[in-house]
Amino acid sequence: MQEPIPMLDLKLEYEHMKADIDAALARCLEHQRWILGPEVNALEEQTATYLDAKHCVGTSSGTEALVLALRSLAILRTGQEFFNCAQQIITTPFTFTATGDAILRSGATPVFVDIDPVTFNIDLVQIKQYLEKNSEHVIGILPVHLYGRACDMDAILSLAEEYDLFVVEDVAQAFGGSWKDKKLGSLGDAGAFSFFPSKNLGGFGDGGLISTNNGKLADLIRMLIKHGGKDKYNVDHIGYNARIDTIQAAVVLGKMNYLDEFNRNRCQIAEAYNQGLAGVDGIVCPTADEPGHVYHQYTIRVENDRRNELQDYLKENSISTMIYYPYPLHKMKVFGGARAIVANALPETEDACKSVLSLPIEPLMEKDKVQNVVAQIKEWISVD
Ligand SMILES: *Cc1c(COP(=O)(O)O)cnc(C)c1O
Repeated sequence: MQEPIPMLDLKLEYEHMKADIDAALARCLEHQRWILGPEVNALEEQTATYLDAKHCVGTSSGTEALVLALRSLAILRTGQEFFNCAQQIITTPFTFTATGDAILRSGATPVFVDIDPVTFNIDLVQIKQYLEKNSEHVIGILPVHLYGRACDMDAILSLAEEYDLFVVEDVAQAFGGSWKDKKLGSLGDAGAFSFFPSKNLGGFGDGGLISTNNGKLADLIRMLIKHGGKDKYNVDHIGYNARIDTIQAAVVLGKMNYLDEFNRNRCQIAEAYNQGLAGVDGIVCPTADEPGHVYHQYTIRVENDRRNELQDYLKENSISTMIYYPYPLHKMKVFGGARAIVANALPETEDACKSVLSLPIEPLMEKDKVQNVVAQIKEWISVD
């Protein structure tokens, strides 16, 4: 039996970063300021500098970051607390549920358009076609930088300008990723990040962050995360209790020292997979040398309806893999009925759900483990 290869090894990462994290936690134990303590402010300042965004606000999760970004835009742009269901936001159906769910929670209606089969990101042609016929209903675009790969932000921002739409970037999978010379999350009206433990920059529990260059938006978000007012005992808006915990901010600050190194490691592992799997029949690798990609996931496509078979084979050989995502959003009950709009048939999304497979990409994994995964995939192909 060979040593198991997990998707991610958080124990190994903790050992590597132990000194920084332990020191950060010890400071919290000393000061005991658990709600909006000094680490929250420090994290907001450090991430704003890193992203080159004017403002960052910590939140209780990436999901809440999306909801808060949309709610604050509703207040700012419409003067209403929530959007209404006649107001539409275009997004991808090939993402984590939270992306579409946040749109529903903001009061708006999600419009699902198909993805590009090469990048797995939202297809710009599809957005354009929908806008040409329905622009009067659309208020915004919510692109997701899936697997850590940037959407074409030039095209998205130019459509947003043409049709006067807001853009909220879902950057949950792409902390540190960039589009041209700009960090993801700094390009749209707001960016929503997640510190879920398995993300490229993860905490020891739930947490998130919103980046924005709009001061009014940042002020509103700061009110909404603490019940909706500047004064918590006399509030203006329908708010939430959605602050990031001091202790999570401390952990994330400690881990930030390693973010760029870990993202570089992810790129090297991706390159090793690309080289190892090049030309293997029935396996489609991500396109190489994608600038700004931070490989939250290394995701291959397994052709000929054989994805589940390969996943089972690798599991028998102690190699973990994951399917992101087995179900498209438009097929889920929560987005059924009149709650969401399906712009067109979504064949690329449905095909991706059936064929994608994400391989282990632990930033500290040894190179021979990557080779081992490659060898097992080749073995599976050849015994066939
Ligand atoms: C993880 C994730 C979220 C939600 O983040 P949480 O911190 O888990 O709430 C949203 N969108 C995408 C694309 C994600 O991967």
